[in-house]
This record gives sequence, structure tokens and C-alpha cells, in this order.
Amino acid sequence: MDVSWILNDLNEPQRAAVTAPLGPLRVLAGAGSGKTRVLTRRIAWLMAMENASPWSILSVTFTNKAAAEMRGRVEAMLEHPLGGLWIGTFHGIAHRLLRQHWQEARLPRSFQVLDSSDQTRLVKRVLRDLNLDDKKWPPQSATHFINRCKDDLQRPADVIADQKPAQRQYLNIYTLYQQECDRSGLVDFGELLLRAYELWRDHPDLLTHYRERFQHLLVDEFQDTNTIQYQWVRLLSGGQGDVFVVGDDDQCVYGFRGSKVENIQRFADDFPGAQTLRLEQNYRSTGAILHAANALIAHNTARLGKNLWTDAGLGEPIQIYAAYTETDEARFVVERIRQWVEAGGKRREAAILYRSNAQSRIFEETLISAAMPYRIYGGLRFFERAEIKDALAYLRLVANRHDDPSFERAVSTPPRGIGERTLDLLRNTARTANSSLWQAAGSLLTAGVLGGRAAHAVRTFINLIEALDHESRRLLLPDRVAQIIALSGLRDMHEESKLDKGEMRIENLEELVSASAGFVTQSDPVIIGVDPNEPDWLNAFLTQAALESGERQAGPGEDCVQLMTLHMAKGLEFPLVFLVGWEEGLFPHGRSSTEERQLEEERRLAYVGVTRAQTRLYLSYAESRRLYGQENHPAPSRFVGEIPEEFIHDVRARAKPRIRVATAPTSPPKPVSGTVPAGLRPRQRVRHAKFGEGVVLKVEGEGYHTRAWIDFPKTGGPKWLIPAYTKLDIV
Ligand code: ATP
Ligand code: MG
Repeated sequence: MDVSWILNDLNEPQRAAVTAPLGPLRVLAGAGSGKTRVLTRRIAWLMAMENASPWSILSVTFTNKAAAEMRGRVEAMLEHPLGGLWIGTFHGIAHRLLRQHWQEARLPRSFQVLDSSDQTRLVKRVLRDLNLDDKKWPPQSATHFINRCKDDLQRPADVIADQKPAQRQYLNIYTLYQQECDRSGLVDFGELLLRAYELWRDHPDLLTHYRERFQHLLVDEFQDTNTIQYQWVRLLSGGQGDVFVVGDDDQCVYGFRGSKVENIQRFADDFPGAQTLRLEQNYRSTGAILHAANALIAHNTARLGKNLWTDAGLGEPIQIYAAYTETDEARFVVERIRQWVEAGGKRREAAILYRSNAQSRIFEETLISAAMPYRIYGGLRFFERAEIKDALAYLRLVANRHDDPSFERAVSTPPRGIGERTLDLLRNTARTANSSLWQAAGSLLTAGVLGGRAAHAVRTFINLIEALDHESRRLLLPDRVAQIIALSGLRDMHEESKLDKGEMRIENLEELVSASAGFVTQSDPVIIGVDPNEPDWLNAFLTQAALESGERQAGPGEDCVQLMTLHMAKGLEFPLVFLVGWEEGLFPHGRSSTEERQLEEERRLAYVGVTRAQTRLYLSYAESRRLYGQENHPAPSRFVGEIPEEFIHDVRARAKPRIRVATAPTSPPKPVSGTVPAGLRPRQRVRHAKFGEGVVLKVEGEGYHTRAWIDFPKTGGPKWLIPAYTKLDIV
């Protein structure tokens, strides 16, 4: 059979990975070396050569966007749709399993997914119920404790509370929080994974079913799996079978959320007979970008170590801009994008990558005033706005009456005369009866214990929700959303509002309707896990809103500038990249600069950023910055100083970074390939594998930092090359 279409544009090690015999295999390789490409081809290979049906394949990617792209590529290669193939994120796949097996998972059919801010709200309520002062017991710490336990597969009963009273208190909070979630049919992100794990662990018949079904398991970005994700893969595969994982330890950037780079190492022990393959050629970036990235990451000590080289020429140097202020930085970036577009480039080829979400605002503002469309990926912006959360509370209550956080939100927005006293009564009744607020409201009305006005207000609210559900049930999702918004009174509330924000809020509510319309037309029911014959769009939409927020600033097909955090950029690539805000305190992030382990994670993030760029890379920092309402005069990031001078061009003369890392190696980073030819001189003749024969015109720097300006008359003229990184033979 002719398989050249799967293999012909792969290099030897990539081919070896794609065609490897079935069995556990890990591919360990640096950025841009083709890991994701190899994983995609492997899926095609399995179907074409191993007779695998789409049914038997489960592939895990980092985002839903990546999943959709991967599915599209394989479909294009095989020229038929892949209905049964499961592909998505760990959370997405777990969610899908739970929807299918809600009974075995002991969940109500219409369980709701809590996003992180809903989760915090619920934790706050638990703190109130326990009479704990949230200054002493910060909700964020409690949430962190809960999530960490879940990531480590620990139910409250499994947590071994040590003698520390604080630990015991957090355990109490966790216990009560979980009871609330279970009672209300709410599932947080960590719970999705834990439930799905327990589902298989506790139902051997189901596990057997899925083991027999999913003969082939593939995982991209394996370095960022946490304990439960790793154990989930182990459980499903039974520690053997065809498990194909790809990853790069230098790109592990979710340590703060529990991802464990050790999982890459453990793989070899836990999956007997596992093969390891390495890819070393980078196809994404120019030489200057790649070498700068290699030099930067060489400052980390905890590494598995790899070689990564390119046969691309050095390309342009990395341009560093020392901005006066954050506004100047934004202006500079937008101006350069404008020039790029004028020169024939596309806006979507440009990415602005930042460390913290809050940095986006100034770029948004500048882009808007330059009338340049943009799009923010993954930020919680749109769905975090208050008016959107209000509308979602109604939608969720329609989907599930026992969703207490949504009940609390909807019952008081718009205000309907239900005071704190009545609400407290509802809460207490619910707690005593171990019921939801909805049920408590019902029983209080029946018992007739509420005063006339309060009873009337509560009854009106209950009737309203019932009516919303009843009257909208047969409508298409966007009509349903529009109707619920209208009847909830939210729209009127903003229309009457004297504040100028009212109009904007109504626009946002309208945007929610378009978001739901877009969701229905653009979603692949298979990916989002709804039954294609009987899709429950409302639930699926609400889940989507919780899982993936933002993303709606520019229309889907529109050519627009891409904005996202460095974390979101993992796995992506862009011809033109701006890495902004490289300042001590901002990046590395304030709390990370003193602790070595955290600092190394920040540096990996910097490495991820640099390696997103294909041809042109800008780094910038501001000498004065107003952020979170304060004016600062930060020092340039130490990471700027870790990029060798020979790859840099200064747009404006700048102060040198003042901070050096104590553990930075004193010797220069090791070259990735080639050697330093002693005494490279002008007029010498050399040969390069790709550019052929050339003549040295000029030599600058010394040792590993030597660079040479070499004329290759047959392949496009003179180029800068770094002999330490490029193999040059003297002829
Ligand atoms: P990351 O670590 O950032 O996730 P990766 O290892 O997954 O990177 P890919 O995204 O698969 O790398 O590939 C990087 C780029 O190189 C892509 O544009 C890909 O199409 C291209 N590429 C990979 N292998 C080859 C090859 N053999 N020939 C030409 N281009 C290639
Ligand atoms: Mg990748």
C-alpha cells in the first residue's frame, strides 16, 4: 500500500515515531520539532496501516481548538469523516464520559460544570456556613487546597490530616464544599477528572468496555499532565497497549496547577517495554530565534537535556524595544503590526503574548483606536462580565433547579424584593433539610411560614423560572437564550439603568445570543460530547461557557491580531511574535523570582514564548508602567539578559538588565551542534550543508559567540551564521 502521503514530508526520526510498532512509546523533543505533526500522522498511520477504526482511537490535546484542527487534518488526509474518533482535552473527554454515564457516576442527569469563579463563590458560602473569617481563611487558599486534593485523587476521607489545625480546617471546608456540590449537582474542573477516574475504577465492566474499545491512546503536551491525568491514562491502558505520548520537559508550565514533569520520566517505569524516541531538528524558527531560546533555557538546571538545531539561516536578529511607558510599548507594537500588514502580511500572523491577563487591556485599547481587529484567546473576559454571569445563572437554573450558586445570583438580580432575612431563612432551611435552595423555597411556601410580601416574591421567582423553562423548551438554542434573557428582566434592568454602562451591558447580552448561535453552527457534536441525534445544546453551551471563555471579540473568519497569555500560546506558532512586559516583577512574575523552582517554571514560559516565533520576534519592556492602578519603575527582566547579544538588535539604546540569576551557569550555554572552528578568517572558503560553498566576508565576536558574515553566491548571497551552532567545513 502506498503510504507516501503520510510519510513523505517527515524526517527519519519522525518517520520512525509514526511507524513504530504498537506499544508504549514516548517522543521526547524540543519546541517546533514536529511532535504534534508526528502525533497527527500517527493517527492516520494507525487507520491506514494497522486497520484501526476511528472508534478505537482516543487522542488528548491541549485545547479544544487544537482538537478540532487535528481532526480536520486527519480527515483531510484520509478523505473521510472520523465520526467515532474521540479527540479533545482531558476535561472535555471526562465531561463526555460523565454525560454518558451520569448514573454510574452518581450524578444528576443535568449536572452543571462550575467555572473557577463559581467555585470561589461556593467556597465563600461554605466559609460563611462554617462561621469562618475569610481574612484568616482566604477563599483562594481553600480553593487551592480542594483542587490540589482532587488532582491527587483524594476525597476528603482520603486526606490524612496531620496535626496542624489549619490543615484540619481546610479539610472541613473541603468536606462541606463537596457535600454542597453533590447536593446541587455541580461539578468543578478537578471533579470532572476525579469522577471520570472513579467511574472506571469502580465499574470494572465499564473499564473493560473502554479498554477494549480504545486500543490506541495518544497524548500531546504530555509534560503538563498532572497526577490524576497520568493515572487516568494508566488505568485506561492497563499500563500497556498502544500508548503514544509526546512532550517536552522544557515546556512544562503548569507546575503551579499540579502538572508533573516527572510523568514523562515515570512513563518508562510504569509502561514496561516503553520505547523512547527523540526529534532534534526544529522546523519552526529561524536560527537566531532558536539559538536564543536554547541559550535562555540553558540557564535552567532541572532539565532532561536535548539537542535542537535548525538548518534554517540565522534570519533577522531579535529586536528589543525599551519602551518609556506601557502606552508607548503598546503603540510600538501596534505600529509594527501595521507595517507588517502594509508589507503584505496578515494580521492573524501577528501574536501579542503576555504573562498576565491584566496586561491585555492596554493593547486592546490601542488596537481598538487603531481600528485593528483583534481576538483574545482563552481569557475569561467575556464570560466573566457581570451581566453575562447573570444571564448564565438563569440559563443554568433552567437547566438544573438545584444549582444553588445560580439560584443565589438569579434570585437577587434584578432585585425582586427578596431580602437578606428571607435568603438566610432559605439557606438555613436548605442546610437543615440537606436540600437545594430551590427545594427549600418550595417547602417554605407550602408550610406557609413566609410573610405575605416575601412569600409573594419567592413564589413569583419560582413561577418565573418554571415559565422560562416551559416556554422556551421547544425553541432553538439562540432563540431560547434570547427569550430567557428578555423574560428574566435583565434586559429591562439595564435599559432603565441610568449608568452609561447599561448600553454596553445590553450589547454584551446580545453578544451572548450570538455566541450561542455561533456555538450551534460551529460545534462538532462529537467533540463537545452531545448526542448528535438528540443534542442537548443548552447544557453543552453552558459547559462550553464554563470551560472556554472569551474568544468573541472578532468574528470567527475575520483576519485579526492574536492576543493571549504565554500559557495559552503553548503548541501554537506565528510568523510575527511580540513578547511584551519583560520586566522583573511582571515576568518573572513577582512571587516567582525568589524561589528557584518557580523561577525555572517562569523561564520555561519564556522559552515557550520565544519558540512560538517563526520569522520575526520582538521583545519589549517598559521603563515605567502603570498596572493594577499603580505606577512602577521596573528593571528589565533578567531573561532579556540571558539572550546572547549576538542575536539581538536594540531598537532604542537601553539599560542592561540589572538582575542576574545566582545559579546561571558561568560558562556560555553549550552549543547545540557543530563546533567552534578555530581561526575562521575573512576570505576563507567554507561549505554549509544547505547553502553550499561560501566565502567568509567578516568575523565578529569570539569563542561560542563568534558570528560570521558569509557569502553563498549560489544560494541567495551573504548570511550571518554562528559557527558554534551550524556545521561549517573549511574547504
Ligand atoms: P511545540 O513543542 O511547540 O508543540 P511541536 O514539536 O509540536 O512544537 P509542530 O507544531 O508539530 O512541533 O511542528 C512545528 C512546525 O514545523 C510546524 O509548522 C510543522 O508543520 C513543521 N514541521 C514539522 N516537521 C516538519 C518536516 N519534517 N518538514 C517540514 N516542516 C515540518
Ligand atoms: Mg506541539
